[in-house]
Amino acid sequence: MRNVASTSLPDGRLFIGGEWTLGTGAEITSIFPADGSVNLRFRGASREDGLLAIERAKVAQAEPSWLDLKPHERARYLHRIADGIEANVERIARIQTRDTGKTLQETRALAASAAGTFRYFAAVLETSDEALTTPRGNALTLSVWEPLGLVSAITPWNSPIASDAQKVAPALAAGNAVLLKPASWSPLVSLELARIIEVSGLPPGLFSVLPGAGREIGNLLVEHPSIRRVSFTGGTSTGRTIARQAAEKLMPVSLELGGKSPTIVFADADQDMAIAGILYGIFSSTGQSCIAGARLFVERPIYNTFLARLTAATKRLRVGHPHDAATQVSCLIHPDHRDAVEAQVNQAIKDGARLLAGGSRPDDPTLAEGAYYLPTILADAPNSARICREEVFGPVLVVLPFEDEAEVISQSNDNDYGLACGIWTRDFPRAWRVGKEITTGTVWINTYKQFSISTPFGGEKDSGMSREKGRDGLRAYQRQKAVYVDLTNRPITWAADTVERT
Ligand code: NAD
Repeated sequence: MRNVASTSLPDGRLFIGGEWTLGTGAEITSIFPADGSVNLRFRGASREDGLLAIERAKVAQAEPSWLDLKPHERARYLHRIADGIEANVERIARIQTRDTGKTLQETRALAASAAGTFRYFAAVLETSDEALTTPRGNALTLSVWEPLGLVSAITPWNSPIASDAQKVAPALAAGNAVLLKPASWSPLVSLELARIIEVSGLPPGLFSVLPGAGREIGNLLVEHPSIRRVSFTGGTSTGRTIARQAAEKLMPVSLELGGKSPTIVFADADQDMAIAGILYGIFSSTGQSCIAGARLFVERPIYNTFLARLTAATKRLRVGHPHDAATQVSCLIHPDHRDAVEAQVNQAIKDGARLLAGGSRPDDPTLAEGAYYLPTILADAPNSARICREEVFGPVLVVLPFEDEAEVISQSNDNDYGLACGIWTRDFPRAWRVGKEITTGTVWINTYKQFSISTPFGGEKDSGMSREKGRDGLRAYQRQKAVYVDLTNRPITWAADTVERT
């Protein structure tokens, strides 16, 4: 099946404060990037729409019927949302594929993982203890956790249902109201999530979906005084802007940003495993992945032979339509993004990089209307070259040789980003040593791009400054409060003799 009937797509109404309503902001056009056809044109959220969502969220979040729920009672809503996602995996997958061009295989997996995220945070909520702290006086001392109030979740276009869930699930579990702003290139699946959340019976107003321009609605969702945390995933320059605004308000912010992650192959590595892992690490999701293994370092003695095998395998990857079950590499999110990827590759070649694979659009006429670009390998550009430093966010791998451990550690770290790293070797102590030396949020040893909701994720340097997922993921959406309870029933000595007895 090549097309999803347009009737099964969301209808373009926004979900504002518990009501479906037409937006009053700028027009958004969602396209199917596999053939350029239009999915839907609709009005996004304006500032006024955002203000209405905020007002309704404030009222809903302060309701005792939400605020005073016991953890197991609130967890029930998260389980119902997970049930709704699981019952609609195929529908969600088809909407997301239509909106992003990702393969159905991948969007089904993303939908299933989103359900798992809601269940995980339901479990975390039910099992997170508050603490009775060690007393240093005649008081019972406690550390308790409370909701922050209103939280904005601002997400990018590459894995919408998964990144939405990663923010919405812990934020709701923590007792907040959430305002979700998806990216304009991929607004549809977040609206579908709203439908599922509405059906779950979550009290109206606690969740709104506000697609629209980053500068207008995104900006409001950061600056508004009622917003008490922003959880942002996206590009580094947007992240910096948000961090500056958050600093003015002294508001905590989570920033999950870009990457240019190194993968290191030592001469003793299992090369079959390494090649499969490298291909998956850079070319799955058509390279549109923050943790893509985009810089490959190969130890000199195997450099030429390894590259020859890697190049041959890359050329065998099946590039095709996202609805074809055999497709490994689908189209990019948008023709404009494909053009940007293409321009970066052309520039790198002009600057002296050696093209080993790809470097062009596919010549298959059935893909001509789509935003396709072939899996591309560029070799021998120095680590200082732009193509080695800047995030391409597409199917483009740069390969460099290295001489020894110290050099590869230094080259890996010589980059503004610090999101992930892959190490391939049979020498485990060496992998451990190298992994410790690399400034990064995640290290994969003899594997790549594996994820677990129970394992914290985040970046260093220009890749961000927070962690999502894991048990502590809940705490990011709460504030910690200390409580002291007197155990003596006597006035404090310091002032006791000045108090007239009653
Ligand atoms: P982007 O920064 O352009 O946009 C991300 C979101 O921010 C969108 O919803 C956008 O509308 C919004 N936005 C833009 N300007 C804003 C502003 N001034 N105020 C508030 N919101 C604003 O990123 P993108 O192009 O959508 O996504 C690609 C980027 O996301 C890549 O750099 C990628 O590495 C990164 N990413 C990081 C992770 C991670 O977990 N580290 C995961 C996925 C993607």
